[in-house]
Formats: sequence, C-alpha cells, structure tokens
Amino acid sequence: MKLRIGQGWDRHRLVTGRPCILGGVGFPDCPVGPSGHSDGDAVCHAVIDAVLGAAGLGDIGGMFPDDDPIWAGADSLGLLAKAWAAVRQEGYKLVNADVVIICERPLIGSRSAAMKQKLAGALGAIPTDVNIKGTRGEGMGPEGRGECVTVQAVALLEEA
Ligand code: MG
Repeated sequence: MKLRIGQGWDRHRLVTGRPCILGGVGFPDCPVGPSGHSDGDAVCHAVIDAVLGAAGLGDIGGMFPDDDPIWAGADSLGLLAKAWAAVRQEGYKLVNADVVIICERPLIGSRSAAMKQKLAGALGAIPTDVNIKGTRGEGMGPEGRGECVTVQAVALLEEA
C-alpha cells in the first residue's frame, strides 16, 4: 500500500466586519473574522494545501489564484471539495488529517465536532478521520495578540 503525506500552513488577519468561518463552520458571536479574497477560511486553505501536497498537485494558489475574480468571496469548503475531487482523480483516498488552529478568538473547542463533520464531508471521509485541535498564542506573537489565525494541517493519503 502506497502512502503519501502532505502538510499545509495558512495565516489570515482577523478583522472586524468579516464573518468568522473556520473549517466551514460559522462563529456568529465572534466579533472578528478572517480577511481574504475568498471567505478567508484558513482551516480549509491549510487542509487544501495538505491534500494537494500529499498528491503532488501543487498548492492552493495554483488551483484557485487569489487574483482571479471568480474566487472572490468563495466558500472555501467548496474549494476544498474541488481540490479533493482532483486528488481523488489521482487515485487517492484519505487515511486521516490532523489540524492545529492557533488563535485567541474564536474558541475552537466549542465547534470542533461540527468542523470535523464539514471537513470529512468535503474529503469523502468520516469525522473520526479528521482531528481538530485549537490552541492559543499565550499573549505572544500575532496569534497571541489576536491579530490573526494560523493553521497547520497534515494529511495522509493512500492509494484507493
Ligand atoms: Mg488562505
């Protein structure tokens, strides 16, 4: 059985006046949201880069250029589903994905089960194949000052 691993990393500024959507899940009570050309969902973006990396398909910028107006305000969970379709086309299925979300706001734990469900749905997987961890910057760096959300993801694929 051939296994392939990929990693993804993304960071978006947290600003007022933007809906807060992470991992395809809304946090309507959060006063800040990730800025970006799309909906700014850094969780979906990091997972896209992880699965594209594992399949050797480049990166999110190559597949969904951020200067292309077609992707303005795009639903990033939909982008993940599109990226996953390309990965599946290469003959892979997901073994598991693990995601670390670093931010002061929103609190991730309250919605991590919903996030697992959304991400697994886009990846043709089951929620237990996706793990979500939230952590904070402890007052240090841009995450600790609440300026951004940073996401790290790894994904393991196997030949279907
Ligand atoms: Mg991004």
